[in-house]
Amino acid sequence: MQSEILSIGTELLLGEIVDTNARYISSRLRDIGVNVYRRVTVGDNPDRLLTAFKESLGRSDIVIATGGLGPTDDDVTAKCLASALGRGLYFDESAWDSIRQSYLRRGRLLDETSSSARKQASIIEGGFFIPNPVGTAPGQGVEVDGKLALLLPGPPSEMQPMFESHVIPLITKNFSGLTPIYCVNLNVAGLCESMVGELLADLLESSNPTVAPYADSGQVRVRIAARGADKGEALAKISDVEKEVRRRLSPYVYGKNEETIEMAIGRLLVRKGLTLAVAESVTGGLICHRITEVPGSSRYFKMGMVAYHPEVKISTMGIPPHAVHREDAANEEVASGMAESVRLLAGAAVGLATTGFAGPEGGSDKEPVGAVYIGISHKRIGITAERVIFSGSRSRIKVLAAQRALYLLYRLLTEPDKNRG
Ligand code: ATP
Ligand code: MG
Repeated sequence: MQSEILSIGTELLLGEIVDTNARYISSRLRDIGVNVYRRVTVGDNPDRLLTAFKESLGRSDIVIATGGLGPTDDDVTAKCLASALGRGLYFDESAWDSIRQSYLRRGRLLDETSSSARKQASIIEGGFFIPNPVGTAPGQGVEVDGKLALLLPGPPSEMQPMFESHVIPLITKNFSGLTPIYCVNLNVAGLCESMVGELLADLLESSNPTVAPYADSGQVRVRIAARGADKGEALAKISDVEKEVRRRLSPYVYGKNEETIEMAIGRLLVRKGLTLAVAESVTGGLICHRITEVPGSSRYFKMGMVAYHPEVKISTMGIPPHAVHREDAANEEVASGMAESVRLLAGAAVGLATTGFAGPEGGSDKEPVGAVYIGISHKRIGITAERVIFSGSRSRIKVLAAQRALYLLYRLLTEPDKNRG
């Protein structure tokens, strides 16, 4: 069984961007025991792309293409694969609905009649769409004569989660007899990917198990993967390396595999008998959402609110008017005040708050777009606030701010205990 990767985009051929998608897909296919025999890169040229699809499908069982699924005229991937298969495209309602959801998520207005937007809901006859939880362009796939062709969007932050949640299960379902590689993921917060890479440098060289850090929405995962004669042998190999990775990254590893930082926080709060209240401005409810995603969170999560408008920060949170009525309306005083107020309002042990500038407009010399303040109030330790600067889209800044706030809370809860209830 052979697979190949087709990277689409003239900017790849011009050397403007590095083909990290092919690297990612190669390494994940290796993990599940799929051989990658070729990687092909083509520009956004319909003729050459059509030929590339024909050639790839002629020699490989699985073809995974990334890029060129967007709304513009140079995004021709779906059309070319359809032509290569001699099929047409149809307008898929469920794909359209997922595009609609993505506009809602970003607070953008979707023109339901826009032909460029509707183009992204064009699915190859006999194919299926793959939802995109991060961006707009859905992916799609088609099975032909036992072969599988899959199209994913170019941006790695969109492609990767789609690959994990849809492509891997699909391949393992369609192709039996793969010798899988067993793996464990350690979840790391508070260190960036390159710092993790430096701390683990020599381990990244090893081949069985392999160790690889990868970034994932403001946090890093370290994947430890091994092959063995059987599962037991593979897991034993992983276990030794896991101990070493944990030793090196110790305060930053909050969980393993599916454990999220909000689960780890819940576990700590329960163990310490503490309760939590959250007041959000810039994160608009993301933190409360994540906290309440954890089953049983009502044991420790007392209250959450989105205190967004300056007047509400004054009237409900008791923030002094001078602190919000200034150019840098998000600042340390506001973050600290919100954390303390919500804690007292809820009668909780710990209060967490966020305020900041998510853009895209606004920002000044003093406070750029992306500046975020995170306040924490703890009944015994007192109040702290941290300023961080993120970059990217509005939704990305919100997501990163929520992740950072949760990390700071986690860190506070894991600091040595002296008198800390
Ligand atoms: P969009 O809707 O964002 O346009 P798309 O599927 O049309 O998605 P492209 O337009 O081909 O994707 O690429 C969008 C961006 O994704 C590129 O500018 C680049 O930043 C990134 N990208 C595309 N292909 C790759 C790749 N192979 N490796 C890494 N990044 C890539
Ligand atoms: Mg595009």
